[in-house]
Amino acid sequence: MSHLFFALKHLTCFLCGLLLMCSPPVGLANAADEVVVYSARGEPFIKPLFDAYTKETGVAIQFITDKEGALMARLQAEGERTSADLLLTSDAGNLWQAAETGLLTPVDSARLRLNVPAHLRDAKDRWFGLSLRVRTIVYHTDRVKPADLSTYEALGNPRWKGRLCLRTSKKVYNQSLVAMMIAALGVPKTEQVVRSWIANLATSVFSDDTQVMEAIAAGQCDVGIVNSYYFGRLKKKKPALPLALFWANQGDRGVHVNISGAGLVKHAKRPKAAIRLLEWLSGDFAQERLAALDFEYPIRPGIPIPPAVVAWGTFKPESFNVARAGELQAEAIKLMDRAGYK
Ligand code: FE
Repeated sequence: MSHLFFALKHLTCFLCGLLLMCSPPVGLANAADEVVVYSARGEPFIKPLFDAYTKETGVAIQFITDKEGALMARLQAEGERTSADLLLTSDAGNLWQAAETGLLTPVDSARLRLNVPAHLRDAKDRWFGLSLRVRTIVYHTDRVKPADLSTYEALGNPRWKGRLCLRTSKKVYNQSLVAMMIAALGVPKTEQVVRSWIANLATSVFSDDTQVMEAIAAGQCDVGIVNSYYFGRLKKKKPALPLALFWANQGDRGVHVNISGAGLVKHAKRPKAAIRLLEWLSGDFAQERLAALDFEYPIRPGIPIPPAVVAWGTFKPESFNVARAGELQAEAIKLMDRAGYK
C-alpha cells in the first residue's frame, strides 16, 4: 500500500513538475526548503526567531531541544541517517567538541565570515557564534564595593576567605573560563589561582549560576562568577535583590566572553537551506531579536543591545579566539581536578 502511495505521489509530482516547469510557486516552501534543527538553546530563546524566519521565507523549521550532550550523542548514533541539518548550542567548548568529533562540516559563506567576528567562529568554518554572553564577577551590593574587585585572579586573595561561591567545575562554562585563563596565564599560574579560589569557598559548589546568586543575596557569600544572562533573568524576576555585575580584568586581558552558536551537521540533508537559515540568524534583524530573547549581546558591534543589558554598562572583552576554550578544555578539566575544584 505504501509503495502504491509512493508511486502515485511520484507520478503526481512528475505531472505537476511538467505543468510547473519543475519550479514551485514563489513564496511557498517545498519539502527541500524545510530545515531540521537540534537545539540545546531552550525553546523560549529560539522559537520566536524560527517563527519569524518561517513567516519571512515560507521555510518550515522542525526542531527538538535537549541538553547539548544528549543532542551530540544522538547525532553520533544517527550518523548518516540523521534528519538534523543544524546543531545549535551554547559555549564554544561544546561547539568545538561537536566539530572535533566529526559531527559538523565546514560552511563556505562570505556572509557568515563578514557577520561573525573572526575570534567568535571556528577557523575552519565548522561553527559560528550567533550571540554573546559574559562570564564575570557578581557581588552583594551592600557587602562589597566595586572598588574591592578587579580580576578573576584576585578572587583568590585572602580578603575573600569564606566569602566566595562558585558553580561546579563540571559545567562547561567554568571549563571554558579556566581554559581561557590557561591561554592567558599558562598552567602553573592558573592552577595557583584556582587553588586560591577553592581555599576561599564559603560553601560547596552549586549546580547552577542562579543558585550562586541566590546564595550571595542570602548572605551565604559575597562574591561569585556567573553568566550575564542568568543575572538578567534573576533580576527581572526579583529586581530588589542586592546583586550587581562587575566586569573582570578590565585593566588587562578583558572579561571572559563566550558564545551561543551553530554549525552545519555533517550529514545534513538540506545543507543549502540550513546555511540560508544560519546566515539569516547572523543578520541585523535576527541579531537584535536573538540577543533580546535572553539578555545577551549581539555577535558584533553596531546592533542595538537589549535595554536591560545596556544598563549593565560597557566592558572590554577578551580577544582570544573562543575556540581556545575547546582546545584547552581537557587541560582545564585536569587542572581543576588537581586543584580540588569539584
Ligand atoms: Fe546557560
